[in-house]
Amino acid sequence: MTNHGGERQEQHTGARWERLAPGVARRRLPGWDATTGAVAGEAGVLVVDTGATLGEGAEIEREVRELFGLPVTHIALTHGHFDHVFGTAAFAGAAVWGAAGLAAGLVPAELREDAVRYGMDARDAAGAAAGLVAPGHEVADEAELDLGGGRRVRLIALGAAHSGHDLAVLVPGDGGAPAVVFCGDLVEESGEPQAGPDAAPAAWPAALDRLLALGGDDAVYVPGHGAAVDARFVREQRNALARRFGVS
Ligand SMILES: [Zn+2]
Repeated sequence: MTNHGGERQEQHTGARWERLAPGVARRRLPGWDATTGAVAGEAGVLVVDTGATLGEGAEIEREVRELFGLPVTHIALTHGHFDHVFGTAAFAGAAVWGAAGLAAGLVPAELREDAVRYGMDARDAAGAAAGLVAPGHEVADEAELDLGGGRRVRLIALGAAHSGHDLAVLVPGDGGAPAVVFCGDLVEESGEPQAGPDAAPAAWPAALDRLLALGGDDAVYVPGHGAAVDARFVREQRNALARRFGVS
């Protein structure tokens, strides 16, 4: 009986996380429907994006430990919008990676204002902004993380497209398991891709071409918001963005 609550919690966690390939999972977070991802090696886990609040970050940290029985050793931030980076402080000791320029581009006051404008409680936003963690490791072009047990993950800096500093995470396919590409907000499934003042629309279609070349036709593409999609969806979204922004 004493284990009952724990078991229920475990089932709950398992149900919230969608398994994409062996050792690769993602969860859609409440509120802004942002994606967080997890990739496990034998030595530790890489978490992709950390949620919109410190509380979400803490929940992700606890759930990932529960799912894989390993600590979170690495964080990759796909870009610097509040709903993807505000939970980072919950992962003490993890190495935080982002695209070159992201650290300088993370301005706490701007992120706090954005979060409040998008409906976050002002106190939550202020707390998360005060605890904002900038990446200590930046990717100029590409980097490879070794998570142990042969699990290698590629981080690819894509320049400015959806944001000023977009980064994709490629988990290569292995033994019949599909490759998984965490796209950040370069791809959205649950709504139209959002182009704010920091977007570089003219470069966006080319960034998606690069993602498609990296993942290939059979990869699982994980959008920043919404359900996982296939290469065909990404290609169609690429063409729609090209039309929308008047580029080829
Ligand atoms: Zn975004």
